[in-house]
Amino acid sequence: MDRPRPPPLSPKSKEARERDMRENIWWGVRDLTFLYPADLADVPPVVANALIGRDTDGSGHTILKFLYTDHTTYCDIDLVNSQLFRLDENVLLCVSQDANDGCGEKKSYSTAFTFELRSEDECTRFYKKFQHFKRTMTDEKAGKPLENGSVNPPKSKFDNKIEASSAKMYFHYYGQLLHQQNMLQDYVRTGTYYAAVMENRADFEGRVVVDVGAGSGILSLFAAQAGAKHVYAVEASEMAEYARKLVCGNPSLGQRITVIKGKIEEVELPEKADVLISEPMGTLLVNERMLESYVIARDRFLGPNGKMFPSLGRIHMAPFSDEYLYVEIANKALFWQQQNYYSVDLTPLYNSAFQGYFSQPVVDAFDPRVLVSPPISHKLDFTRMKEEDLYDIDIPLNFVASVGTRVHGLACWFDVLFGGSSVQRWLTTAPGAPTTHWYQLRCVLAQPLYVMAGQEITGRLHLVAHSAQSYSINLTLSAKMWGVGAEQGGILQTSSGKLELKEPYYRLSQPQPYMVQDQQPPQQATPLFQENPSQMQDEGGPIVVPVDPNRNSADLEQ
Ligand code: SAH
Repeated sequence: MDRPRPPPLSPKSKEARERDMRENIWWGVRDLTFLYPADLADVPPVVANALIGRDTDGSGHTILKFLYTDHTTYCDIDLVNSQLFRLDENVLLCVSQDANDGCGEKKSYSTAFTFELRSEDECTRFYKKFQHFKRTMTDEKAGKPLENGSVNPPKSKFDNKIEASSAKMYFHYYGQLLHQQNMLQDYVRTGTYYAAVMENRADFEGRVVVDVGAGSGILSLFAAQAGAKHVYAVEASEMAEYARKLVCGNPSLGQRITVIKGKIEEVELPEKADVLISEPMGTLLVNERMLESYVIARDRFLGPNGKMFPSLGRIHMAPFSDEYLYVEIANKALFWQQQNYYSVDLTPLYNSAFQGYFSQPVVDAFDPRVLVSPPISHKLDFTRMKEEDLYDIDIPLNFVASVGTRVHGLACWFDVLFGGSSVQRWLTTAPGAPTTHWYQLRCVLAQPLYVMAGQEITGRLHLVAHSAQSYSINLTLSAKMWGVGAEQGGILQTSSGKLELKEPYYRLSQPQPYMVQDQQPPQQATPLFQENPSQMQDEGGPIVVPVDPNRNSADLEQ
């Protein structure tokens, strides 16, 4: 094998080159030999001309970049997980636990390569600098300025607003196949996405698509099935590795899909997208704060006149009456009423426990007959809204009670619209519609209100985003005085509650089986507030939910 020639120096000025050398940013490598790990031992070693440079990956982590002389990446190594050994006066061996080869393939096994610097002196200086880089890593992680005066790259929008511990748990959760399976097995959800994509092939055919938070990669595969030219599947969790496997295992589609591991706020893509597809909805639509990432993806990657699937979301709200639920929650705190619990009086904590239980929004599927008035809705236009609009969502409430009853709080659900150019399709999580893994959400007030038929119920739902990827919920409901005194607008009763969306009470542990229309329980025949087009569908789309014909209720009960 011919010995490769030393790499040519880059066409920089002498001063710039000298400065680079002084700061040890780029080093010329004479001979880079990649030693494949044992399981690939039969692969011959690679020899290449290369440059070594210090760089940062998407998360601001310092890495050493080994570049071909044309500046394409040969290999990235993370300094924290790497060690350097001197083999000869100008030959070094680098062993790295977590290397990334030039194809973007992350290796989970150790990797080693030798490289030869141009002189003994350069080798000594590089060796020292390497150890120095490693030492400064700890400081860099803490965000301190580097010794030479340069500062860390600015944190991403995501890192700036989300606590690292929350993000770690969040992406750990989504990195597990069982949770992706839970979403895939929600056939209302996945079936609606599939229908929305396939019915709107014209929007995908020959187009560049970005799948924002690709998870298992299922939506990317749908987009490829609909004829997308290329799909960039961006996923921040370890699920990206599984998505790669799924994509590789479906080569006819997979050849048009590139999985990119990273946060959508941080990755770079080689081209603009014609279409964004994503499933960023959490409980109450906004939980998890992923809609913000969807909007950031729009601003970063969607070309002019690009389409978003989905394009619009709506939160629907109505007061409800559910005596049984109210008593169930209030009773949870009764434990703290004991005055002789192993001779200890627990009552000093009763009020706190009572408040604590009412601060948990209840997640379950309820009968729409519990609703006390027709719902109102609050729209979020994903194609136009600003990311900051999601930091603070303030919704004025105004209802007219249809029945005289006790109001125990506010019931909420959401839907999203796939505004394709051929078919407009809604995915709904409404009560009475086939149950999804989102169920519905109810904010229960510690103090119920009494209302009479025809009485106005006003209030406010104020959602304030926080750094643990969720929201604090402030709810106030008031029932205006009825009869004498109403003219003066006197308020008869007001009830308020502060709830934490991050800490819901999952009242059902399993999705309810979906019943086809003629098997619906009796209340479905005459729901008090049917989601008819005049009340609910002001965008003009009826709620039609496709259901996998092969599916039976047992699928959801696993
Ligand atoms: N698209 C998949 C998964 C949806 S769940 C499906 O429909 O089945 C949302 C996914 O988005 C999770 O896997 C989560 O890890 C990922 N995600 C959330 N925020 C992200 C971000 N800022 N950047 C990249 N991925 C993100």
